[in-house]
Amino acid sequence: MKSTAEIRQMFLDFFHGKGHEVVESSSLVPHNDPTLLFTNAGMNQFKDVFLGMDKRPYSRATTSQRCVRAGGKHNDLDNVGYTARHHTFFEMLGNFSFGDYFKRDAIHFAWELLTGEGWFNLPKEKLLVTVYATDDEAFNIWADEIGIPKDRIIRIGDNKGAPYASDNFWQMGDTGPCGPCSEIFYDHGDHIWGGPPGSAQEDGDRFIEIWNIVFMQFNRLSDGTMEALPKPSVDTGMGLERISAVLQHVNSNYDIDLFKKLIKDTAQIIGANDLENKSLRVIADHIRSCSFLIADGVMPSNEGRGYVLRRIIRRAVRHGNMLGAKEIFFYKLVSSLIEVMGDAANHLAKTQKLVEDTLKAEEEQFLKTLERGLLLLDQELAKVTNHQLSGEVAFKLYDTFGFPLDLTADVCRERGITIDEAGFNRCMDAQRQRSRESDSFTVDYSSAIKLDSKTEFLGYEMSESVATVIAIFQH
Ligand code: ATP
Ligand code: MG
Ligand code: MG
Ligand code: MG
Repeated sequence: MKSTAEIRQMFLDFFHGKGHEVVESSSLVPHNDPTLLFTNAGMNQFKDVFLGMDKRPYSRATTSQRCVRAGGKHNDLDNVGYTARHHTFFEMLGNFSFGDYFKRDAIHFAWELLTGEGWFNLPKEKLLVTVYATDDEAFNIWADEIGIPKDRIIRIGDNKGAPYASDNFWQMGDTGPCGPCSEIFYDHGDHIWGGPPGSAQEDGDRFIEIWNIVFMQFNRLSDGTMEALPKPSVDTGMGLERISAVLQHVNSNYDIDLFKKLIKDTAQIIGANDLENKSLRVIADHIRSCSFLIADGVMPSNEGRGYVLRRIIRRAVRHGNMLGAKEIFFYKLVSSLIEVMGDAANHLAKTQKLVEDTLKAEEEQFLKTLERGLLLLDQELAKVTNHQLSGEVAFKLYDTFGFPLDLTADVCRERGITIDEAGFNRCMDAQRQRSRESDSFTVDYSSAIKLDSKTEFLGYEMSESVATVIAIFQH
């Protein structure tokens, strides 16, 4: 059986053999791109190449890109622990054409890698594909050249206002390169709940989207209009953990080699016995995003990227507490993580001590108020009658006990309770007003207040601590 590390390498080898330059993953902190919170797809580092503003000595590239989706346009933080396929941190395998090949080759390459003998060799009847609703060209390539039965090629639009999650128009953010796409799904079998893309049950874990092939054709401008790219291009993204699940014959990303080991080590460190416990999956997920973010220069803080990192760390610590962790544990997972990630952890290994020290300090600080905050929350939850926690309580937890709003929401969700977010924001505004008046305003709360992924990131200023870390790296 192939390991995740072998699968990553096979992907890169396949596309190298098709004339693609193997390019290193870029940092999780996008360079010079204020529209992006964290790197959320393989194409990010090539954004300017697609736009024709940057030239490379190659017109085909392949990467295994580290990605974080925990805020901004693509936010999967709330999915972790609830679906079999979402992580905050994952690796996206991709092949790219910069005005070189287009739909035909992109589709043929994908099919050859997935089903070819000597490559992934997947049973064809377990795969189905989607195309953009009006994209007859892609439909016909799948039907006539690849030979997929027409009833397994599903047309899906751009989902505006539609009730389902599927969306065959990909965009990296509110602006930037975008285009119609064609996605490949794997059927994990009828013992798992879920329906095909476009159906009412598509959010189940049976039909899993493994690969998105984007036909990059447009640049979306900030006023919403779309202009054509200089040349039609291709951007693809396949989740390494999802294809590993398929190739390792397991039905959840959390059961692949890498996560199995990480979850086992986490259980051992915390002293938990039930390896199926959801909190173990959450912690194993969160140690990946937190460690790689710190290794890429993000430090916990009260603003922007640093606050997203702080929120994830605190969520992990809370889940450790639920599992009965008796002492500081989170930083102890870093060496296990480095071990399971193989080559993908090379730069993490170089910063191991900084990562561990940062996690340790952050956990120590939060532990001082966690227990008391949880106690208060427990008491307040017992009083809730309308399935909603008041904004005042959520704010008190935030302000006095260091509970990020989404952490409180996570606890509440486990009991079927929501939070009065508007009330929370009113308290936050009042707080800001008070601090402005007393002129002791030092912390920027602006990006810390909204749960809504679309409006959450209001700007980013490099905090002093990040600048320090970057300075360390540059020496
Ligand atoms: P989904 O619909 O399952 O949330 P997506 O459509 O948001 O996925 P894309 O933006 O198309 O995902 O990204 C390309 C590929 O990256 C996906 O086909 C999937 O294999 C992988 N991927 C996306 N999000 C995640 C995630 N949170 N964790 C792990 N893999 C992911
Ligand atoms: Mg998604
Ligand atoms: Mg999708
Ligand atoms: Mg997709």
